[in-house]
Amino acid sequence: IHNALEDLKGSIRVFCRIRPINKREKDLQDVDVTEIVDSMTVNTQKPSAGTIANEPEQFNFDAVFKPGTQAEVFDTCKDLVQSALDGYNVAMFAYGQTGAGKTFTMYGGAGDNAGTAPLTISELYRLIKQDEDRVQFTIMASMMELYRNELVDLLVPKSGGASPKRKSQNPGSAALEQKLNVRVDKSGAVQIEHLREEECKTAEALSDLLERGNQMRTVCATKMNSESSRSHLILIIRVVGVNKQTEQKLSGKILLCDLAGSERLKKSDVSGDAQKEAIEINKSLTALGDVMESLVKGAAHVPYKNHKLTQVMSDALGGTSKTLMFVNCSPASSNYEETVMTLKFATRAKTI
Ligand code: ADP
Ligand code: MG
Repeated sequence: IHNALEDLKGSIRVFCRIRPINKREKDLQDVDVTEIVDSMTVNTQKPSAGTIANEPEQFNFDAVFKPGTQAEVFDTCKDLVQSALDGYNVAMFAYGQTGAGKTFTMYGGAGDNAGTAPLTISELYRLIKQDEDRVQFTIMASMMELYRNELVDLLVPKSGGASPKRKSQNPGSAALEQKLNVRVDKSGAVQIEHLREEECKTAEALSDLLERGNQMRTVCATKMNSESSRSHLILIIRVVGVNKQTEQKLSGKILLCDLAGSERLKKSDVSGDAQKEAIEINKSLTALGDVMESLVKGAAHVPYKNHKLTQVMSDALGGTSKTLMFVNCSPASSNYEETVMTLKFATRAKTI
């Protein structure tokens, strides 16, 4: 019943979210180059040196928030949590340059600032409780990051050493040496070999798991001498529901991804390691854009195999799955070029 309505809304939604201009930008005399035309339309205005203003450029989305409260944004997509309980695969991810608000949107802060992931968790367990007389639900979760084309399990404790592949005496970190390969079975379901998955009986258990994963991510980033914004953070929540009367079983999942920053590296910053990082991020985001574009165009072949990122996400993108892309932008004139690039990337994922 829920999804009869949901299906009408289409299976790919693209939301644009523009964060507030910050103090540092104001101090630098940055101005806001974005304008909300209506709840689905945003204009960008190229900063001009003279008195003659440039023509604005217009972009359309399923929703535009500037900046919008976390609750307001979540209200527009929380039906996707019910979809997962109904047996659908759901992907929600945030795209944009570093500092544009991806992590704020996906994770957020304390209290009213809680973002998509914590709000999804509350909604998930609220719905489960509501239906507990009828359906027995099991929730399993895993968390990983994709850094330079390597998947790293964020639930497996890492022992000392700079390299994630270093042989260790600690049996608890044995899984560290195991490569997390991605397999896709005949039905299209994604399987990540050796990835740790934990059952979470309560919202608190799943929130704790998230917390642990985020801490591990910081540790890994420090060891690899990188910044966490240079990797893709992926949380997968699997939902299995068994009807207590009919024993009918439904499996769905929610994949949440805080993508690596989409910004182009400044030429002056391009040295060995940073360059490798940038090239890999660029490849992965291009692959994601290509997949989204193929899906929207209804292409016969969807190029999931072009990158590990799109392989991991493949069973939550396309087919019967439901996808929500957040496009996060900065409003500041100093970020104008990146903002326009971000908006253009997003329009590839929109039907014309
Ligand atoms: P990203 O993850 O894309 O690098 P962040 O989410 O860390 O960016 O956001 C950068 C800064 O802007 C943070 O301090 C964050 O709290 C703030 N911010 C981002 N989006 C919003 C928003 N919608 N409302 C208020 N503050 C925001
Ligand atoms: Mg971030």
